[in-house]
Amino acid sequence: MSYVDEVYARVVAKNPAEPEFHQAVKEFLESIRPIVDKHEEEYRKNALLERLTEPERQIRFRVPWVDDKGQVQVNTGYRVQFNSAIGPYKGGLRFHPSVYMGIIKFLGFEQIFKNSLTGLPIGGGKGGSDFDPKGKSDREIMAFCQSFMTELYKHIGADVDVPAGDIGVGGREIGFLYGQYKRITGKYEGVLTGKGLSYGGSLARTEATGYGLLYFTDELLKINGKDIKGMTAVVSGAGNVAIYAIQKAEELGVKVLTCSDSTGWIYDPDGIDVPTLKEVKEVNRARLTQYKEKRPNSVYHEGRGVWTVKADLAFPCATQNELNLDDAKTLVANGVVAVCEGANMPSTLDATEYLKSNGVIFGPAKAANAGGVGTSALEMSQNSERLSWTFEEVDAKLKQIMINIVHNIDEAAKEAGKPGDYVAGANIAGFLKVADAMNAQGIV
Ligand code: NDP
Repeated sequence: MSYVDEVYARVVAKNPAEPEFHQAVKEFLESIRPIVDKHEEEYRKNALLERLTEPERQIRFRVPWVDDKGQVQVNTGYRVQFNSAIGPYKGGLRFHPSVYMGIIKFLGFEQIFKNSLTGLPIGGGKGGSDFDPKGKSDREIMAFCQSFMTELYKHIGADVDVPAGDIGVGGREIGFLYGQYKRITGKYEGVLTGKGLSYGGSLARTEATGYGLLYFTDELLKINGKDIKGMTAVVSGAGNVAIYAIQKAEELGVKVLTCSDSTGWIYDPDGIDVPTLKEVKEVNRARLTQYKEKRPNSVYHEGRGVWTVKADLAFPCATQNELNLDDAKTLVANGVVAVCEGANMPSTLDATEYLKSNGVIFGPAKAANAGGVGTSALEMSQNSERLSWTFEEVDAKLKQIMINIVHNIDEAAKEAGKPGDYVAGANIAGFLKVADAMNAQGIV
């Protein structure tokens, strides 16, 4: 058995019932196979891939809190500190009922290579809880966040591990988490990113993942001889990533026809209206049925279906495995030009293969959505130097980070003899830097 296959079998055996983690590792290992085959003896002797796929630390803890009726609730909290070869652990917190160790491990593993691709000194980590913020009062959210941080604070720090937001964790939650960290430790430091502007947050961090996705796509289309202006797009999700992806797409002259949430989706023939979407989702925290009420020309559908709408571009921005093989076939039949992933691992492995082998330009998540964590690293820099940069400064840096990523993954794909395969390019480019740092630091 080849070293790559051996390591994959080991990961499956050691982490049973964690299919999302297996999926992320499989895609990664397949991509780096040619590099590993060349260095097999050295990598095997140093157990490089075993170390890379084994988190440095996995933390799991109890989170008790009291709801508005006086009832005690108990959730589980997680933090996986996956790899610190190139910097302190960095990665978001997800609050969603589907969260368990396998989801956090897949996200943490992806984060290692994404963070490496940004060119900034940040290692990979991820965390969260099976807590469901939906339908909870502000007081309940605060009670949960305070209890969560009362355990998490022992494991994080501005130079140790710096969490941020993800699904279910936005500005409100980061505020409560930060307040509790400060109260317990007495330290006013950049221990979280995505903070509010009045207490150390960075301008453009809220917009960064969505904007970055569009800067990435714009550049990727350019190197493939195409112009984004005048194209149409379908987007899934209606959260932080989706909203700002839609906003930047429209600024670049793209008409965005859809968005979705966990219960249904909107088709708006006039193009999604961002102020309306923000009011429904960011202010009212309501369902998309409210968008339909405010935009009578739009159509609301229950369930899933955004990938059935014909468009040039597709941006999955909701969650993992939301774009499957059947969706990929529909997109290709409808003549999609490019699919760029805003969410983490939104396409199944067979969907990705189908899109790539049918000539679709495919921008994988760890490259395409790296603008969020890239800007988080810029927030860390601002906190360290006790300065705040202007929106324009941060936005220009974000844009440059995304442009650099496109060229790095393009070159890495070409060097590996797989021109145009940006999945391979992203995995290889992300891996080489981490592997180099791990080798230099000895067996740790
Ligand atoms: P939000 O919680 O702000 O939004 C998530 C959106 O996706 C919501 O519209 C939500 O619906 C929908 N959604 C969530 N889970 C499901 C599900 N199981 N089925 C269908 N729809 C679902 O999260 P973000 O926008 O921050 O994150 C979206 C994706 O982007 C995630 O994969 C995340 O890991 C990734 N990402 C986020 C970054 C960031 O900076 N925030 C950075 C890089 C990646 P509803 O409105 O009903 O809750």
